This record gives sequence, structure tokens and C-alpha cells, in this order.
Amino acid sequence: MKKCDICGNEHSESTISCAPCQKIISKHDKKLTTSKLRDALSATCDKEKSKGDERYFKCFYTGITSEFNPTTEAGLDPLIHALVLTIDHENPEDPNSRLVVSLNLINQMKSKLPPDKFKQIVIALGKYFNKEIEQEDFENKFKQLFGVYQKK
Ligand SMILES: [Zn+2]
Repeated sequence: MKKCDICGNEHSESTISCAPCQKIISKHDKKLTTSKLRDALSATCDKEKSKGDERYFKCFYTGITSEFNPTTEAGLDPLIHALVLTIDHENPEDPNSRLVVSLNLINQMKSKLPPDKFKQIVIALGKYFNKEIEQEDFENKFKQLFGVYQKK
């Protein structure tokens, strides 16, 4: 018996990962680098919950534990599949950036934004939605995020 490099469960497969983990890797390694995929998965695996054939991982942005879609990830709906896990480059503009596991909803909201910009936008919107910031201050703050300054 060997220990799976991702979930730590004992297995007798010829691969370094157990069958359920290997299934997740095989589903993603056509588009993504396998070593980075392994790093992202082993860093976020919820080993306590990952027993039997079930594999759980924590979303990088929210810490919420969830599962990958057993079938396909093409055309995931932001609401129906909000809590399905996806895996993508942290910075989509940089194909060498690390991979992160995230909830489909968060991944869709983040889209192609760099991670720091995404966080700043969400925080600014949160303040605005909670009415913690005046319209003019919000507008200035929001435009600043995109390098546009309000003309006086
Ligand atoms: Zn495993």
C-alpha cells in the first residue's frame, strides 16, 4: 500500500495518487500543468472529510470545503453549480502563475482579473452595497482601481 500524494489515503494503484484523486488530475491535466495541479490539490485537500471515494477540497478564496463536478466543467452555471470546485491560474494573464482551487461562482466572478484587483473590487462593492461609503467617494475609489481619476 502507498500513501496518496494528495489526500494521504492508502491505495494500491500504480499511480502516485489514489484512484479518486487521479480522476480529478486526469480531468484537468490536458489544459493545466500536472505538477502545479498536484501542488494546488494537495495544498487544499480536506483530508478529514476525504474518505472512501469522496474527495473534498477547500476553496482558496473562501475556505469553503466542496467537491469537483464528477462529470464536466464546461458550461457550469454560476447559480446551479455555485459550490462546485474549479481549478484555474491565480493570475489568468500569467500562464506560469500557480493554480488555485476555487468555487465555480467565485471563479466566474473573478473572471480574468488578477487576484489583488478582484479582492479590491469586491471590497469596494461590499462597502457600497452596505451603504458604508458615499456615492462620490465610492466612484472615486472605483475609478482609482482602474487608473481613472475623476476630473474636478
Ligand atoms: Zn488521493
